[in-house]
Amino acid sequence: MSKYLNKNLKIAIIGGGPGGLSLGKLLNIKGFNNVSIYEREKSRDYRIQGSSLDLHPDTGLKVIKECGLYDQFKKVSRPEGEYFTLMKKNGSIEFKLPPIDMISQYHLGFSKPEIDRGQLRDLFLDSFIGNESNNNNINIKWNYHFESLKFDNLNNNFKLKFFNTDLIDADLVIGCDGSNSKVRKYVTNLEMEYSGVTLITGEIENAKNTFPSLYNLVNGGLLFVVGDNQGFMSQLKSDGSLTIYYSSERSWDWVRDQKLKFQNDSISLLNFTNDQLKDWNDLVKESFRFCNLDSIVFRPLFNAPYEKRWKSLTPGITLIGDASHVMPPFSGVGLNLAMYDSLLLVNELTNPHHKFLFEALESFESKMFDSSFWWMNNTKVAQDSIHSERVVDFLKSKLIGSNDLLVWLKLNFINSLNSCTKFLHLTK
Ligand SMILES: Cc1cc2nc3c(=O)[nH]c(=O)nc-3n(C[C@H](O)[C@H](O)[C@H](O)COP(=O)(O)OP(=O)(O)OC[C@H]3O[C@@H](n4cnc5c(N)ncnc54)[C@H](O)[C@@H]3O)c2cc1C
Repeated sequence: MSKYLNKNLKIAIIGGGPGGLSLGKLLNIKGFNNVSIYEREKSRDYRIQGSSLDLHPDTGLKVIKECGLYDQFKKVSRPEGEYFTLMKKNGSIEFKLPPIDMISQYHLGFSKPEIDRGQLRDLFLDSFIGNESNNNNINIKWNYHFESLKFDNLNNNFKLKFFNTDLIDADLVIGCDGSNSKVRKYVTNLEMEYSGVTLITGEIENAKNTFPSLYNLVNGGLLFVVGDNQGFMSQLKSDGSLTIYYSSERSWDWVRDQKLKFQNDSISLLNFTNDQLKDWNDLVKESFRFCNLDSIVFRPLFNAPYEKRWKSLTPGITLIGDASHVMPPFSGVGLNLAMYDSLLLVNELTNPHHKFLFEALESFESKMFDSSFWWMNNTKVAQDSIHSERVVDFLKSKLIGSNDLLVWLKLNFINSLNSCTKFLHLTK
């Protein structure tokens, strides 16, 4: 099937996560008029969306700007969420890094402001105006759980099957359905691999009152505690809750043995985590007790195979975001890349040098692999370093520089930048 590129192509976006929503929005802006997003969740408010994330200037934030959503983004994002504290297992503080404040960020347009995943999703959905039906040409279909597809030779298009509907036609199918993608098998035989690291996560609601000592130390941003080649993180969300993470290297055999028990029995998972953290400082070892029991989750982390490019097995179907290149969150880029992929794809679909759809898709895939492989390699280095004796030096060099002079310069630079832009702002 070699379709000509045109704005009337019937495009099916499978999955309404950050990748799928950015893609729908950008296609709409560029004038594609037959685009639908199929999302398996039953409705917009069906599930509370997860943790806080930072958007990076050259990827996620760039897409927000391309989508015309930067003003709305500034109203809800939290530059102060960049506050970073590194602590050792015994409770001693290694360093604290203040964020570049809101005014500096507003004027200079850099830094990586935080936003909750749910707020980010709302930014897109609100911009679609009345998103339950075909509106503004962005058609979001809730409760559409993609199951399978086949090619219809007669009509030269795809027939998509969802769990609860009749068949739906599409000329171009884009799998934005995350790490357990059901679209992936039509594109590649490559399987996702266990990364070697498992997280246990939990939520402490109303942390200011329930666990004030941890809340104060997090200071609106992220606390990272390291020891025994393991990590503990705590991060504030906009509703005042803290997300906490315990990260450790575990073999796949161990994960397979524990998975069933831990996924069905929160008390066993809580007891296990408390036992693992019993020698850590008081803040850390107590923390999981303050979580809502239902919020404690066992999360083995997966990644796409390293350096392995695929050429789509089915022309007219491609993947973006985690469906293509899931990676553990140790560089904090997965969501940023999912959004950035959508920009790369739309740039190729509107590139006048491409006459046929397959040319645009091949060119997109090549660019997507270039950026995602770079980040996957970085993430692997970060994952290995975070779970090793080198962790403090690694985080210092990544976040502030490799020696004490650089640390001093950077902290002073940020403080003077903050004062300077505040002064300019006041004297305007
Ligand atoms: C603990 C943790 C912390 C993280 N922190 C960060 C961070 O700080 N910064 C960062 O950039 N990234 C972070 N990430 C990674 C980030 O969450 C992902 O990379 C990002 O969500 C990928 O976006 P996506 O749109 O590709 O997929 P997803 O966010 O997984 O969205 C997929 C969507 O598809 C829908 N769907 C799935 N299957 C189907 C189907 N069969 N039919 C229809 N719909 C379907 C899902 O309901 C969902 O809405 C983190 C990940 C984890 C696990």
